[in-house]
Amino acid sequence: MNLNAKVTMFFSAMSIGLLVILVAISLYAFRSFSIVSSSEHIRTAAEIVRVHLTESMINGVIDKRESFLKRLMEVQGLASARVVRSPMVEQQFGKGLSQETASDDIEIQVLRDGKAQYEIIETSDDTLIRGTIPFIATNRGSPNCLECHQVQEGMVLGAVTMQVSIGSLKNKALLTVGGIVVVVTLFSLVAIMLIRRMIQPISTTAENVEVAVQRALRGDFKAKVDQLTNDELGQIATDMNRLLNFLDDGLNRIGANVARLTSRTPSPDENQLTATIDMVEGLTKAAHFKQAIEEDETKAEIHQRLAKALSGEFGINEYSIYEMVANKNQMTPLFVDGASTDSCRWCDPQILVRSEGCRARRTGHVVDGTLNPGICYSFLPPEGETGRNHICLPVIQSGGVGNVLQIVTKIADETRIQGLLPYVSVYLREAAPVLETKKLMETLRESSLKDPMTGLNNRRFLEEYVDTLISNVQRRKGRLGVMMLDLDFFKMVNDTYGHDVGDVVIKTLAKVLRQTVRTSDMVIRYGGEEFMIVLVDAPPEDVDLVAEKIRASVEAMEIHAGTVTLKKTISIGVADFPTDSDTFWQAVKFADVALYQAKETGRNRVIRFNKDMWTDKQY
Ligand code: GH3
Ligand code: MG
Ligand code: MG
Repeated sequence: MNLNAKVTMFFSAMSIGLLVILVAISLYAFRSFSIVSSSEHIRTAAEIVRVHLTESMINGVIDKRESFLKRLMEVQGLASARVVRSPMVEQQFGKGLSQETASDDIEIQVLRDGKAQYEIIETSDDTLIRGTIPFIATNRGSPNCLECHQVQEGMVLGAVTMQVSIGSLKNKALLTVGGIVVVVTLFSLVAIMLIRRMIQPISTTAENVEVAVQRALRGDFKAKVDQLTNDELGQIATDMNRLLNFLDDGLNRIGANVARLTSRTPSPDENQLTATIDMVEGLTKAAHFKQAIEEDETKAEIHQRLAKALSGEFGINEYSIYEMVANKNQMTPLFVDGASTDSCRWCDPQILVRSEGCRARRTGHVVDGTLNPGICYSFLPPEGETGRNHICLPVIQSGGVGNVLQIVTKIADETRIQGLLPYVSVYLREAAPVLETKKLMETLRESSLKDPMTGLNNRRFLEEYVDTLISNVQRRKGRLGVMMLDLDFFKMVNDTYGHDVGDVVIKTLAKVLRQTVRTSDMVIRYGGEEFMIVLVDAPPEDVDLVAEKIRASVEAMEIHAGTVTLKKTISIGVADFPTDSDTFWQAVKFADVALYQAKETGRNRVIRFNKDMWTDKQY
């Protein structure tokens, strides 16, 4: 029920109540008034009758009293009048006229106790008031009652009974009350109409505000509240419109900015407010994600965090994260369905060795199999895992595709995944520059630890890595065989054939060294034509054997540089850690001492360090 209906009902009920009370009071007042006034009339008339009868007695015309009473009946409103004699008067003067004997209980009663009595008589066509008034003997005035009547003062001499019609009074009363009812009803109707007109703007404004608030709750702030008056109500409408405008403008601006950041356009039937809140929440999470990955140390950590976000934040459990192999037409899977891996699950493994097969990698565009089923022929779910589609998102780094995120979705889950895509894209966009920086740093680091000519690790690498290496060896009580190698008479090559040929010799030697030892052993270009080899956990006899094998291989090696074919030899010094030395670097020094010995004793040989080679004067 709205305000208008409520007010109308309230005032109608009040008017009706008022009317009923008014009518009841009026009718009661009229009735009381009629009775009182008629009783007065009867009393006055009775007094007149008494005076007349007394006069008639004095004048000796008491016998004519019947015609007097008849004429009295002509008085308007008087319905009947008769006189009765008390038994005392009958005793003195005998019975009066036939009708002058008390005829009912009321008259008998009045004659007995001298008290006037009244009653209302309702007939079918009239309402009457009957009054029986006693005549009491008195000695006041002259002549007085006691002069003729042989009675004591205060005794009842007779009574007069009269009936007065109050029918016309009653009709007048009804007419008056009817008039009042009409006037009050009209007044109430006019009042209700005026009140309705007065509250109309309040009710309309309230309805408008209600509609505007309902629309605002649905994220639509376009509703307007009509300004109907210039008072406080109009002010409410103006203020409400200003507030709505402000919110609409603010929300639109936030929404537009946020939508630009997420590349997500809320559909028109969507609640703009919840859509914006969603987007802001998504962006906040993405910002936290970015903060976290910026503090990560390696690319691997970032990939792992991305994988965690996919399942944790987005509830995506089937996916692959690929990384492109630098400068090669290859890609490697890093994470598949939450687990770190190096094999494909959702794609043809061909793409790993020929990354062009991956459409997202080739085009640098989003490849959406949910919108274009079958778009990429390399999407190949494992047997029994059918009913799925893929959305592949390239992560662009340095102008090329650095990673590809492949989201796999069941057909029933496609709408949800589509809704998540803008947010996933924000995560990838945030991750891209960080990944790029990390990749660059890793490349830089690798290059600073590698010798570009031979591809072998350099001395800096050894310096950085040595602590880890030593602590590992000490923990498992292992050992290290350290070899120092130096080409014999290398300077001669440079001097005879030039530096380029010298470089070829060094490169060829590096290759031979790498081939002669295990992958787990370290080959380091220590400087110039000096190399170091560290054999992990090999007993001294084996180290000597490997050194000898190297020496022989170098001796046998033919170096082709342009038209020149060369043969060279190498000298090797060997020491053991911790057998020979307390520290690793001491072992290196001892191996160097042994190498010096090898050079001294004729070159092209392997010499193992022994304590006699180490004298104080060598410091
Ligand atoms: P030995 O070791 O048998 O005593 O005689 P050697 O002639 O090899 O003597 P030394 O070790 O002193 O000479 C090293 C030479 O290697 C000096 C330097 O010009 C040359 N060299 C060092 N690094 C390179 C390089 O990268 N390329 C070329 N072409 N030559 C290099
Ligand atoms: Mg040298
Ligand atoms: Mg040398």
